[in-house]
Amino acid sequence: MNNARVVGVSKTFGSVTALHNLDLQIGQGEFVALLGPSGCGKTTLLRLIAGFESPTSGEIWINQERVADAKGRKPPEERRIGMVFQSFALWPHLNIYENVAFPLQHQKNVLEAYKQNPRARVAQILEMVGLGGMEERYPSQLSGGQKQRVALARAIVFNPTLLLMDEPLSSLDAELRMQMRKEIQYIHRELGTSIVYVTHDQSEALGMADRIVVMKGGRVEQAGTPQEIYYEPESMFVAKFVGRSNFLKGSWSNPHTFLLESAGEQVQPIPVSRDYSFFHAHHVLPVRPDQLKLKAWQQGMNGVVGRVTHVQFQGRELLYSIQVGEEEWEVISDVSERFSYDDQVLVEVNV
Ligand code: ATP
Repeated sequence: MNNARVVGVSKTFGSVTALHNLDLQIGQGEFVALLGPSGCGKTTLLRLIAGFESPTSGEIWINQERVADAKGRKPPEERRIGMVFQSFALWPHLNIYENVAFPLQHQKNVLEAYKQNPRARVAQILEMVGLGGMEERYPSQLSGGQKQRVALARAIVFNPTLLLMDEPLSSLDAELRMQMRKEIQYIHRELGTSIVYVTHDQSEALGMADRIVVMKGGRVEQAGTPQEIYYEPESMFVAKFVGRSNFLKGSWSNPHTFLLESAGEQVQPIPVSRDYSFFHAHHVLPVRPDQLKLKAWQQGMNGVVGRVTHVQFQGRELLYSIQVGEEEWEVISDVSERFSYDDQVLVEVNV
């Protein structure tokens, strides 16, 4: 079942077209990340789903109800949508209890039990976000991470059908971001609420979402599971924007064989088991650094031979640069077998 649907939506601001005839479905309980570079239309799409803007054309549906089209829209407070922004947007003059309880009084269709006993509901939600007992504090007395948790509590307190998050972690430091990622995933598991999460941080999208929608220039470039987006990119843009990629040069003899030309005089056939149909017309094979494996080269061995030009220790992994013919490839491997600068290696391509 769909929780929300964006159907053929375009949005223009004067001469700028922020969204072009865009379609998107968000399943019940699904965690969808909107990922894309600055200006691709992520925030505009989120604001349309929330109800702050009307589409120029197309329709928006939430819970089987049409909530917006070019003629008009239902206001945000009638959509049962929770929202979390990058700037926590807490009211400084209200304490934590008052901040979190606010939607219980102002949203439409809030459960009667929550309205009758807001203290109990707020206490339950504050407990859930790790702020139990902090009702009387004011935002100025909280750390950045705690403020973001209050914003999260306020977004989920009225049991929204959809939770919209716009870069919610980007103003936190690296350690807090990792911690909050886990907490958002925990809340998603506990509540089963559908989430649309805007980010330009690919590791957030890959790490948290059930499905990633990669956007470019107001259009959906590719949508799929994190694994599909990472290992089966359908365009050069996705391969470059999400994760790191090597682009091996050569030609396709058939969809299952790539003839690698960069390995020297001899063309090396690479068996390909994944679907790289988009790249058949191109003279490249996109290969992630973790899809290359190194072995010690010995005289007489056949295959793709390279030379180590750079090694970076990264804890559990090593990041190598390998010179293969004219090209330099990136390889990530575990520390079980180590190579050093200038070693000759055999490179296995597993795609
Ligand atoms: P970022 O990651 O930088 O926040 P974004 O992907 O969220 O970017 P949007 O904020 O949705 O992108 O903007 C999409 C395009 O629409 C941009 O070209 C932007 O300048 C334009 N735009 C957005 N809002 C308005 C507005 N109110 N008036 C005019 N142009 C706008």
